[in-house]
Parts: sequence; C-alpha cells; structure tokens
Amino acid sequence: MAEYRPGDAEQTAFLQELVGAGLLIESGIPGVYGRGEQFERVRWAFDRLVTRAGDGDAPERMAFPPVLPRRQLERIGYLNSFPHLAGSLFSFDGDEDQAAEQAARASRHEDWSGFQSQTDLVLTPAACYPVYPAVAARGPLPPGGVTVDAGGSYVFRNEPSGDPARLQMFHQREIVRIGEPDAVAAWRDTWRDRAVALLRSVGLDAGFDVANDPFFGRSGRLLARSQRSQELKFEVLVQIAGPEPTAVASFNYHQDHFSGTYGITVRNGGGEPQPAHTACLGFGLERITLALLRTHGLDVDAWPATVREELALA
Ligand code: ZN
Repeated sequence: MAEYRPGDAEQTAFLQELVGAGLLIESGIPGVYGRGEQFERVRWAFDRLVTRAGDGDAPERMAFPPVLPRRQLERIGYLNSFPHLAGSLFSFDGDEDQAAEQAARASRHEDWSGFQSQTDLVLTPAACYPVYPAVAARGPLPPGGVTVDAGGSYVFRNEPSGDPARLQMFHQREIVRIGEPDAVAAWRDTWRDRAVALLRSVGLDAGFDVANDPFFGRSGRLLARSQRSQELKFEVLVQIAGPEPTAVASFNYHQDHFSGTYGITVRNGGGEPQPAHTACLGFGLERITLALLRTHGLDVDAWPATVREELALA
C-alpha cells in the first residue's frame, strides 16, 4: 500500500466544501471520488475548449480504454522509473473450493490476494502511452509526422492523498506530436504558450516552469536532474489549495524514447526514413476544474459572465 499523505488544513477544508456542495462524492478511499453534475459540466466545458484550441492543428482523434496491455508498460520501462505509481490488474484463477475460500475471507475483509494472479492488463498511467505503438504499427510516417488528439482518458496513480488536487484516478487530456525533431520541439513550445493563454482566458493565474517527473529512488534523482537541465518537461502551474501552486498541465519532450522503443520513423524526402521524436501535452482536467471552482466559487452559475462565455457554459 502506498503511504497516505494527509492534506493540510486548507486542502482538507476545500475537500469538505466540495463534498458538501455535491461537486465531489466520497468513496471512502482518499483520492477516488465520484463527481456531481456541476463538476462534470465544468470538466466537459474545459475539455471542449482544449478541442477548439487544437482544431487548427487538424489532429487525428483516437480514444483508448483506461487499461493498457501489461507488455507495453514493461517495454517502455515504466517500472524502472515509476514502480511506486503503477497499478496492475489481478483476477481470480482457481477452482471451486478456492473460490469458496476466497469469498469467505473476503466476507470477513481478510487478505484474499493469494487467490489472485496477474492478468495481461495494467491501469493506464498516462493517456498518451497507447498512441505510440498504434502509430508505429502503420510504418514510416509521411513528412511532417502526425498530431494525435488522444482525448481525455482516465489514468491511475497510486498516491492516496487528502489533497483534493492529488487524485488516484483522473482524466488526462492528452495531445501527442510525432515527427521530425525540430517540428516536435516547436509544437511543444507553441502549446506551452497556448496553454498558458487558454488558462488565463478562463480567469486562472497560470504560469509555466521547468519541471521533472517524480522518478523513483536514487537513480531517479539523476534522471530528474537531467530532465530538468535539458528542459524536457514544463508544467503550467495554478494556485488551488495549499501552500504551493499545483501543476494543471504538463509538456513532455521524450526525444527518441518512445520512437526508439516502438520503431517509429518519419519519411524525409526520398531518403531512408529517419527516427521520429515525440512530445505530448496533458491537461489535468480535474485539477483545472478544481482551480476554476477555487477561483470563481462553487456556484458555477454565479461565475463571471466572461468566464462562462469563454467556456461556453450555457
Ligand atoms: Zn503523455
């Protein structure tokens, strides 16, 4: 079990307000909430705003379920970098006697994990992961590569917390760019500025900063340092609740990490196809919804008219 991180006083109070107003619905597990109608109304409104902002890039749209073949997670080395965040799926694999014993133990809330074995599925930890093998399977990309709008899939992170902005299961609105290194780097920089403008247009005090992923362990600290020094990751930050601003969007330049793993190439005039580079951006839709509720109040209908107009909230 991952260690539970309690929220501070401000985060705890905000969570109680959200639950009290019916915006979040408690499940009994920290970081896992149902959502009320008004919460979803805002989340969908921002999702549509991202779609409109990206329309000019004419992305190809794809959608994937929130589970991933276990082999994909193994191939990309996720368990080296983030073993503490992964969630894998186990299921019953036994006979009738074992089923009866499992049910008996479960009815007493005792440990029944001994009757479970690992399936071929893990919970998706990042919404862009299924895109890379899907694109690789087509063979070399045409010059210019491809932009994929991967929609807003649920992703899982094993980090129970009392901070309502740190969820275990949330929607990541991802767009992926795959192509020549220069084109990918330019796309990432364009979207970084576009995302800040987008968040400011709905009244959020957003700014970006260089960031690193929460890599695991001692070797992880080295990875984090090199990611920062090469400016491979940017985050857009907004104050929600608590002392520090929270990352509500991130921009990751993977260089040839995914294209090398899956063999993604891009045609370059008449010559041999070249290794592609990849980058992705992800908006944390729940965090943005929470930031909007924190900034403009819990009554969505009482928000400033300009914000409701920008979000096309009827
Ligand atoms: Zn991604």
